[in-house]
Amino acid sequence: MPYAVKILDSAFITPDVKRFKVEKPKGYTFIPGQAAGVALDKPGWADRKKPFTFTSLTSSRTLEFIIKIYDDHDGVTKQLGLAKKSDGLLLGDPYGAIHYQGPGFFFAAGAGVTPYIAILRDLQKKKKLAGNTLVCSNKTADDVIMDKEFTEMLGKNFLNIFTRQHVIGFREKRIDRDTLVALVQDFNQHFYVCGPQAFVTDLCDMLKTLGADPGSLVIEQ
Ligand SMILES: Cc1cc2nc3c(=O)[nH]c(=O)nc-3n(C[C@H](O)[C@H](O)[C@H](O)COP(=O)(O)OP(=O)(O)OC[C@H]3O[C@@H](n4cnc5c(N)ncnc54)[C@H](O)[C@@H]3O)c2cc1C
Repeated sequence: MPYAVKILDSAFITPDVKRFKVEKPKGYTFIPGQAAGVALDKPGWADRKKPFTFTSLTSSRTLEFIIKIYDDHDGVTKQLGLAKKSDGLLLGDPYGAIHYQGPGFFFAAGAGVTPYIAILRDLQKKKKLAGNTLVCSNKTADDVIMDKEFTEMLGKNFLNIFTRQHVIGFREKRIDRDTLVALVQDFNQHFYVCGPQAFVTDLCDMLKTLGADPGSLVIEQ
């Protein structure tokens, strides 16, 4: 049963990523890391539901989404890129397999960081961030989502990897086996992996080869 909600505020936070503050239906709850189907509440779009992850704290009186906009074709995110305050959305029930299971490494490519925003904000609120490291892979420094908040939250346990732009002081490469060996050291912990399917598959394969227990890998099924 979809919930009709209004956009309360929206703004671009990187060149192609937009943050939305949205009304929260009464009694609506989710677990940090979960997503829901979202559609635009307007003719021709109401049945085109796409999954997006809640990034707000569960205790917040509003919901937040952080959404990468694909402008190159007329899909749901292009329409969300045009959406503004007071426009209506249709929200489904929360679902999803990425939940916090214990300290470890969070690997994200691009907008794959969204479940970790909710999880890490929740851990920060509970003062349980210790032992967690976030590794984000993006094309360039301009594409990093919530750079400032993650730096304040995690300090040296927030690492950026850039696949295209040379940025002095940062690693400029893909996450490969050598990077994992240098970063992780102890493979007996949890590994959260989220991003495009090829990123998830590659990283999980490398982690398993390096000794990670398949049961310690937390991914969207
Ligand atoms: C559980 C889950 C949670 C998610 N949470 C988030 C989130 O919090 N934030 C977020 O940003 N994303 C999230 N995603 C991804 C998000 O759902 C997709 O980016 C979204 O569905 C894309 O919708 P669309 O209709 O705009 O694009 P689609 O039409 O579905 O296209 C998606 C991809 O295909 C390409 N493509 C398709 N057709 C064309 C075309 N004709 N021309 C050019 N390119 C094309 C697009 O460039 C893009 O790479 C999540 C996905 C899942 C499964």
